[in-house]
Amino acid sequence: MRRLSVLFLALLALLTLALTSCGNHKLFRNGKSEYTIILSPDATESERYAAEELRYWIKEVSWTDLPLADLSGGVRGKRLVVGFNPLVSEMVPEAVKPEDRDDSFTVRSVGGDILFWGGSLRGTLYAVYSFLEEELGCRWYSSKVSVAPHKDVWSFNKLDRHEEPGIKIRDNCVLDVRSNPVFSARTRNNFVRLPGNNPGETIPGTAEGYWGVHAMGYLVSPAEFYSTHPEYFSMRDGKRVPRYAQLCLSNPEVLDICIDRIKDVMRREPDYLIYSVEQNDNQEFCQCDECTALAEKYGGQSGLMVWFVNQVADAVKEEFPDKYIGTFAYQYTRHAPKDIAPRDNVVIRLCSIECCMFHEYDDCELNVDFLKDLRDWSAIAPHLYIWDYVTDFAQYSLPVANWKTMGPHIKDFRDNNAIGILEEGDYQTVSCELREMRSWLLAKLMWNPDADVDALIKDFTDGYYGAAGPFIREYLELEDSILRRPGIHSDCYISASDPMYTNEFIFEGRKIFAAAKEAVASDQILYDRVETAEMPLCLLLMQKNPIVGFQEGADDLVRSVVEREGIDRMAEGEWSGGVVSAKRLMEQFDRLEKGMKEAPEFPAADVKATIQGVAYKKYEGPFMSTSQMLTKGKLVNSGIMPWIGIDNDPDNDHFGYVFDCWFKAEQDGVHQFTVVSDDGAVLLIDGSEVLDIDGSHSVQTGLAMVNLAKGLHRFTLRYFEDCEGQSLDIYLAAPDGYNGHLPASRLFTPNQ
Ligand SMILES: [Zn+2]
Ligand SMILES: [Zn+2]
Repeated sequence: MRRLSVLFLALLALLTLALTSCGNHKLFRNGKSEYTIILSPDATESERYAAEELRYWIKEVSWTDLPLADLSGGVRGKRLVVGFNPLVSEMVPEAVKPEDRDDSFTVRSVGGDILFWGGSLRGTLYAVYSFLEEELGCRWYSSKVSVAPHKDVWSFNKLDRHEEPGIKIRDNCVLDVRSNPVFSARTRNNFVRLPGNNPGETIPGTAEGYWGVHAMGYLVSPAEFYSTHPEYFSMRDGKRVPRYAQLCLSNPEVLDICIDRIKDVMRREPDYLIYSVEQNDNQEFCQCDECTALAEKYGGQSGLMVWFVNQVADAVKEEFPDKYIGTFAYQYTRHAPKDIAPRDNVVIRLCSIECCMFHEYDDCELNVDFLKDLRDWSAIAPHLYIWDYVTDFAQYSLPVANWKTMGPHIKDFRDNNAIGILEEGDYQTVSCELREMRSWLLAKLMWNPDADVDALIKDFTDGYYGAAGPFIREYLELEDSILRRPGIHSDCYISASDPMYTNEFIFEGRKIFAAAKEAVASDQILYDRVETAEMPLCLLLMQKNPIVGFQEGADDLVRSVVEREGIDRMAEGEWSGGVVSAKRLMEQFDRLEKGMKEAPEFPAADVKATIQGVAYKKYEGPFMSTSQMLTKGKLVNSGIMPWIGIDNDPDNDHFGYVFDCWFKAEQDGVHQFTVVSDDGAVLLIDGSEVLDIDGSHSVQTGLAMVNLAKGLHRFTLRYFEDCEGQSLDIYLAAPDGYNGHLPASRLFTPNQ
């Protein structure tokens, strides 16, 4: 009986499925269709573009080319009506014409006709894309990868879909989106207004643009005004700063210039929605008495900023009633002010640069302050816009485990009334980890902050990586469990030496990628995509342990991905610590490879040493090199210490050490020793000098590659400190996989 009812239910389900997939109305069947795409004669450029896109993608899916016609032509047969026009009003009398800039849309069937309407600038276009994605299964995963699954037949009974954007202004700030307006529009990003990469590529519809960033430096520049009006610029420690710093906001002439100049910009470039009157990118706010008094009156530097920008906003309001003046809540202006609120035509752009990307805002001690600022601003600012950071700017390619937090962060922005978000990723290049998925997800989440992230990730990984999809998801879980283990936080400047990147992470990750590559070995296109996804792990390995990296071919993988993807840049800037230019990174690989090949060979010593420790001799005296230390220095102390270091030395200047021990090579092969010291250091292996950064200097890094036979080798390090700062750190990368500080467990005292 029970079995029977299960069978019955299954049959019912099949029947239901058959009915829905064989709806009453067939859009196309076996390469034929009765449908015509209908446009109003006065359709906007964007609506015409929407009709072309609908026609193009239906043809891709069905191999049927639908005709386009004017609605005045009295079309027979069934219709796809694009744009809000008299036909929509006639067929859906309750429908209200949306505002031009309204991105929300409706896809509705009336009988066998399908109507697509929304705001005339983008809404209708998004209606078309939504239909193509949700009903026909099209996807636009990146500017280069679109999916249009072929179907013999597609039919429907009833369609009624209405969507509104969760975030009004969606700026997916990565190069692939910003330089590809067509792709940008397909993924419902609505910021881009730059010309496209491809000749003739136009911008469909329009976008909700933001003119400028850090524009105060442009509106009132020191180059133009400092010589005649130093008082326009910030006062620091009693002096007006002549270079790029900040403006003296309490000076009424500065206000007048800002007003005149921003009005000029608004007249010259009228298509933007928000115009930047934003602080420059540094912390050197004006400390003059007037500025300080205003800041105190309004609860801090942000109060002074709002006081200033409100006056600019008041001055432009009459001439530009639909436009906004934008200003930052960034670094020294991040906290909300007191006793003053931004005007209705002011947009506050709040920046999350200090935040931890790995945790939700209410679930991380590093994010509590930001959440308070977000809520405080939300309470007083009529329009809040978020500048958010979603990748590693010190090294774009390194793995960043923020897959589970991007959604909740965007939800917090939406719940605190953000009208716009700029999600800053690899805006200068295309080297961010899993960049296609990251920006696709961000586009989806900015449109619908409540979207199911796991479902989106499954959609992308299966669609983009094919049979390797499940492995990519496994890798994301690995990132989540290791990089986001308890106690680990991460802002948007991460280096390869960060302790969260364990050997286990690299090892397990590469195992997953080996399986992923095997799954798609017969498909070169998918194989290349998986290799690109693996590149961050290989780069990490090359930076942490190039010895093993070369052994395992990690360098070749990085090289081939850099070349194939056309990656020219690895980091945002020199200041961020990583290697910026991809060319320089490849040159670094060349140098390391040469060092590996030419590494001097050392046979193991025929000794036994079992007691751990390092013999040391300490010298004092005014010497300028380690050789002078040995001839002129006074030997003051000697003995055994557990490890090589100067951290416990009580002296600050004019001292030095000779450290002497046996180093145990666990495995035959090239070992890399890195010495970071202030001042000089010289390293000898088995009596031969292999590293020399001697002399008086600030922190310098020296590198030695030596080919050691398994067993014991004499390890002698001479170090001296002249004056001012002092430091000594030694790192080992070994062929057995070890990388990190030279471990005490491999050092044995010679006195035994
Ligand atoms: Zn001032
Ligand atoms: Zn955290």
